[in-house]
Amino acid sequence: MIREPRILAPGQMEIPAGEIRFLFLPNRDLFSRRAARLRQLSKGHVLGDYLVFLSLLAEAQQKALNQFPVLSLPDPNEHAFSRENGTPHLAARSWPRNPVWRSGLFTILRQMKVAALPAAAQEAVAGLIRASETELEEMADRILAGELADISPQELPFVAAALQVYWVHMASSLKEDAFVKLEQTGLCPVCGSHPSAGIVRSGGTEQGLRYLSCSLCASQWHMVRVKCSICESTHGINYHILEDSNGAVKAESCDECNFYLKLFYLGKDSQTEATADDLATLTLDMLMDKEGKVRGGPNLLFHPGRSH
Ligand SMILES: [Zn+2]
Ligand SMILES: [Zn+2]
Repeated sequence: MIREPRILAPGQMEIPAGEIRFLFLPNRDLFSRRAARLRQLSKGHVLGDYLVFLSLLAEAQQKALNQFPVLSLPDPNEHAFSRENGTPHLAARSWPRNPVWRSGLFTILRQMKVAALPAAAQEAVAGLIRASETELEEMADRILAGELADISPQELPFVAAALQVYWVHMASSLKEDAFVKLEQTGLCPVCGSHPSAGIVRSGGTEQGLRYLSCSLCASQWHMVRVKCSICESTHGINYHILEDSNGAVKAESCDECNFYLKLFYLGKDSQTEATADDLATLTLDMLMDKEGKVRGGPNLLFHPGRSH
């Protein structure tokens, strides 16, 4: 792995903050685009089978999203409360979940049941179909609280996928002006979750701007570059790339807090999709782990291991 010198100062080469679009809510075709990207990345990939499994899961997520009923969402009074208090409207940890998210889960499970899955995954699907409402709600609480290591590695991707569908459904049903920047700029202004990765955009008015991509609702919000998304330090920021890579992905690490986040550069690969490309570059995570660095945000579809 190669460590790159710091090349930009925070905010340098960026357009004035007032003119920057602060938020992109997710599109309704998010999961089908993710499925296509995963399939593309799976070709010749050492983790090809795993990426194909994830592309099937993303297709099932798209089906669940397409079938989602209209839900009641925060009313204008709740919008005003969130604005005044600087809290996310659809806070992952406190939003009263509509039980319909479990209908989305069953759509996903039914779809995956007929896919050619390995035995362990088939067993997990069957187990989740039999699980009680209480068990599923408890798993959801844990996932949304960031306690991924407490969930079985086989069950995590299915339940997390259903929660993503529910939050993407809600986020994509609202308008961007319903949301305000949070004081803690490294957290999603829509649902308060950590980002799974950052995207450096290319072209148009967003050329060179960094957006963080939410691990739950897939919203993307602006954050200046060369700034740690965890502790907001602008000192001791370093970039790591894999040898022989074209620089389309880098890990941005922070000496202050020891966390890192991956950044994907759309200028190097315009097909990049944050969640898919994150899962296809786990080698970089392994190397960062060897360097003693800790991931700054989860990928909800990937189990972090029991040791954490
Ligand atoms: Zn979010
Ligand atoms: Zn930091």
